[in-house]
Amino acid sequence: MQLLNGKTALITGGTAGIGKAIAVHFVQNGADVIIWGTNAQRGEQALVDLESVKSRENQKISLHLVDVSKTKDVDLAMVQALTLTGKIDVLVNNAGITRDQLLMKMSEEDWDQVLDINLKSVYNTCRALTRPMMKARSGSVINISSVIGLSGNAGQSNYAASKSGMIGFTKSLAKELASRGIRANCIAPGYIETQMTEDLSLTVKEAILAKVPMGRMGQPSDIAHAALYLASELSSYVTGQVLTVDGGMII
Ligand code: NDP
Repeated sequence: MQLLNGKTALITGGTAGIGKAIAVHFVQNGADVIIWGTNAQRGEQALVDLESVKSRENQKISLHLVDVSKTKDVDLAMVQALTLTGKIDVLVNNAGITRDQLLMKMSEEDWDQVLDINLKSVYNTCRALTRPMMKARSGSVINISSVIGLSGNAGQSNYAASKSGMIGFTKSLAKELASRGIRANCIAPGYIETQMTEDLSLTVKEAILAKVPMGRMGQPSDIAHAALYLASELSSYVTGQVLTVDGGMII
């Protein structure tokens, strides 16, 4: 069964890691997909990968180079995306970065960059898409938060603030838009094997694994399965929730 036939999805940070896995699963389930990122080379490679898993004739897949932290750029890119596809049914706010540092050594730039790319981006995309989704009287917004937004972590006060902020934002949006048929939910991944976690030292990785009852790091596809559920009609009575996908880290 293809869960997203007839749907169009926009995935920020769809050029790599978790975002790309979400895009692959959405394409395999029949959706037209637009991915946003800033790295052209990575984006072109993602396009090739997505083309190879197309599930039907005339399925539209496109890449736009957009920095999600820039409000005007997002406004413009959203108009372009809507012109291209006519509608966006599913928005996945996945683009994100880390700039880890103990607070006493954290520069203003590291604070601002993380908050702008991880959180202001969500304001940018959701605000730009609210009106068209309200007109359509349907939509699903999926924000990729983190277990760090639930539990905090030494050296990640900027990242934790951005990911907690996303949760409060999502719950508010869910309340604002539920009567218009629009749902908004978060996924809080645990530690997932991507570029973001690849650079951690072996000691840190072992310490993380010790906290995961299931004894393994997650795969991007673990998050993509949760996103597929929240994007589809399978979750039609679910809004304002945080779906934690972490191998049991936070119970
Ligand atoms: P990656 O570093 O593998 O991918 C990050 C993605 O974000 C890339 O596609 C990148 O695209 C995009 N991106 C970064 N900055 C911008 C920007 N300014 N504008 C547009 N796109 C941008 O990370 P992950 O796949 O691991 O993480 C994806 C999300 O999941 C993030 O929000 C992260 O915080 C969250 N998460 C990840 C966990 C993990 O363990 N990996 C755990 C919990 C949450 P490009 O390079 O083309 O700009």
